[in-house]
Amino acid sequence: METSIYRVFDIEQDAAALDRAAALLRAGRLVVIPTETVYGLAADALNPSAASAIYAAKGRPSDNPLIVHIADPEQARPLVKRLPDAYFALAERFWPGPMTVILEKSARVPYETSGGLETVALRMPSHPVARELIRRAGTPLAAPSANLSGSPSPTCAGHCIQDLTGRVDAIIDGGSCTVGVESTVLTLCTDPPAILRPGAVTLEMLREVLPDIRLDPGVFAHLPDGAKAASPGMKYRHYAPKARVVLLWGTLVQFAAYLEAQPPGCGVLCFEGEQARFGGHPCVTYGRRDDPVSQAQALFGALRRIDELGLTSVYARVDSPDGVGQAVYNRLLRAAGFTEIRLGWEESAT
Ligand code: AMP
Ligand code: MG
Repeated sequence: METSIYRVFDIEQDAAALDRAAALLRAGRLVVIPTETVYGLAADALNPSAASAIYAAKGRPSDNPLIVHIADPEQARPLVKRLPDAYFALAERFWPGPMTVILEKSARVPYETSGGLETVALRMPSHPVARELIRRAGTPLAAPSANLSGSPSPTCAGHCIQDLTGRVDAIIDGGSCTVGVESTVLTLCTDPPAILRPGAVTLEMLREVLPDIRLDPGVFAHLPDGAKAASPGMKYRHYAPKARVVLLWGTLVQFAAYLEAQPPGCGVLCFEGEQARFGGHPCVTYGRRDDPVSQAQALFGALRRIDELGLTSVYARVDSPDGVGQAVYNRLLRAAGFTEIRLGWEESAT
């Protein structure tokens, strides 16, 4: 299949490209779209064969459900059995934005979109191009991250072009993603509600609206074989570069000492400004140590860079996971296949 590339930086000036993309979506075709979290591989969420085509293009397991993107909170009404008060309270506070809410689905949502589940995940993105496209297509859009299944999520059009050229009908280049990690996924189908995937809307922020919300145990723990994941995506290898990644907990001094004992070809994933400490080892940075928002923005690009450098083994610096740092740590854990070494961690460590 030939893949068209459309540049859309301005809704009005680039209206013709938006119309072409919307026509493709209405016809059941696949279009990669920019969102504020990561790029999405979009298709008509209500068209079963269009949704199936997403799984084929990504190589995604068919039991891993898709997030349905809407342009207005009311657009969810026909898609679910019931819209609880909590839904509107969350929408009012965090939409448009990087939060996904799971509710019981109605018969309108095909099982191809819900991965065979009786629930549906809903999000209203803040990226103006994404919302305008949903409006012009006239249908909610199912859109998982626009990467090949298993590889790091795409945070710019170049990543999508790398992974999906020849596999989708069009890729819309709308610039770099401002958040850089996928949305916070939470379910209102359990009591108490639970966060299934941390993101830029943090546990602390959500507690202001849902005081009893908790983190699902699968967020930071490796589920035992055969365990049922609350979020099917949790059980798959994810976000992983080809290189073997190991997370190293410790001070910068401890980390540098550990690296000295490693072969010179072994790479380092560290924070900005730290490279000089790892003489000789190839370094890739992911944001500033005291700024998890900058880490989230840089993380997936850094994981891709590790493979571009041909590194086969990488040690990653990690910092205490608070706030948006929880999202960063959740992705790093999966990129590392849950391999962590603790060199000894002190609260005041730098
Ligand atoms: P992605 O679109 O690649 O960011 O992945 C979407 C994530 O949301 C995956 O981890 C899915 O397993 C999760 N998800 C989507 N829909 C549901 C649902 N109905 N129930 C539980 N998890 C879901
Ligand atoms: Mg994904």
